[in-house]
Amino acid sequence: RKGCVVITGASSGLGLATAKALAETGKWHVIMACRDFLKAERAAKSTGMPKENYTIMHLDLASLDSVRQFVNNFRRSGNPLDVLVCNAAVYQPTAKEPSFTAEGFELSVGTNHLGHFLLSRLLIDDLKQSDYPSKRLIIVGSITGNTNTLAGNVPPKANLGDLRGLAKGLDGLNSSAMIDGGDFDGAKAYKDSKVCNMLTMQEFHRRYHEETGITFASLYPGCIATTGLFREHIPLFRLLFPPFQKFITKGFVSEAESGKRLAQVVSDPSLTKSGVYWSWNKNSSSFENQLSEEASDVEKARKVWEVSEKLVGLA
Ligand code: NDP
Repeated sequence: RKGCVVITGASSGLGLATAKALAETGKWHVIMACRDFLKAERAAKSTGMPKENYTIMHLDLASLDSVRQFVNNFRRSGNPLDVLVCNAAVYQPTAKEPSFTAEGFELSVGTNHLGHFLLSRLLIDDLKQSDYPSKRLIIVGSITGNTNTLAGNVPPKANLGDLRGLAKGLDGLNSSAMIDGGDFDGAKAYKDSKVCNMLTMQEFHRRYHEETGITFASLYPGCIATTGLFREHIPLFRLLFPPFQKFITKGFVSEAESGKRLAQVVSDPSLTKSGVYWSWNKNSSSFENQLSEEASDVEKARKVWEVSEKLVGLA
């Protein structure tokens, strides 16, 4: 049978390119989990991917009710879950003030981390039930949360501190809107959320891999300087960032190429190792990359997991 993969945020950028790459093989049915149905429908059509190989289902990660609703709808659809890809993200580098999810969590961490945390915790049961030969849970990471790289050292750097803001609910009222309890900074909130994504993937690996055989992985797909992720940046940045990445850092990767990379992590029979953070070198071959000290801190991963459980109502 075809594999069934759920991809969050498949209405643009990396998620869309991955959906296309997988749907075109004819071996996958892609569930595009998107907040804007019409946009997703148009995007899917525009890529020309075969209609019978994808379904769009509504999911707004900035609402925990919506996450639970999505899980119910997915179960009712009768599809098996073979691979889950947590890809969606928001990035607000120029925001002066925080904005918030339906439950009142700062938007970047609330969407990128907490929404995906609840989604993957609920769907782990569905993954367990699948009879697919290689079941996977993939959480898209980023180099910007990795302070052991050049790009990860561009200020403001990711830093979760002692999680005091997260523990108090990131609501900007009783607590700071930042995980470490500091002043709001949209670019840092995004990087912090990506560190949470990478810590969560490893904690999943430690708690579930042996028992379930599920492969847990994260990746840095390369700098896809043309996606909607940078939509809120200042116009000059948006003009200069793609050529800068192309010619100066040479980290630039096209949306199509990044989609092929993520599709590999979904389906390549040789990428079954669990607990791994994949990257690609200049010849586009994959390798296991190192994470920064904070992004591989076992104790912090456990704390993020436990605090997040409370915030999303699982504990
Ligand atoms: P895009 O902005 O193009 O895509 C992000 C997707 O997330 C969109 O489909 C968007 O939906 C969706 N999304 C945002 N908020 C929500 C929400 N509340 N509920 C459901 N979906 C939501 O960015 P990219 O493709 O670049 O980003 C994809 C992933 O790649 C992210 O995890 C990002 O961190 C990562 N990444 C990107 C890099 C890059 O250089 N671009 C580098 C490293 C990692 P909508 O279309 O409705 O806005």
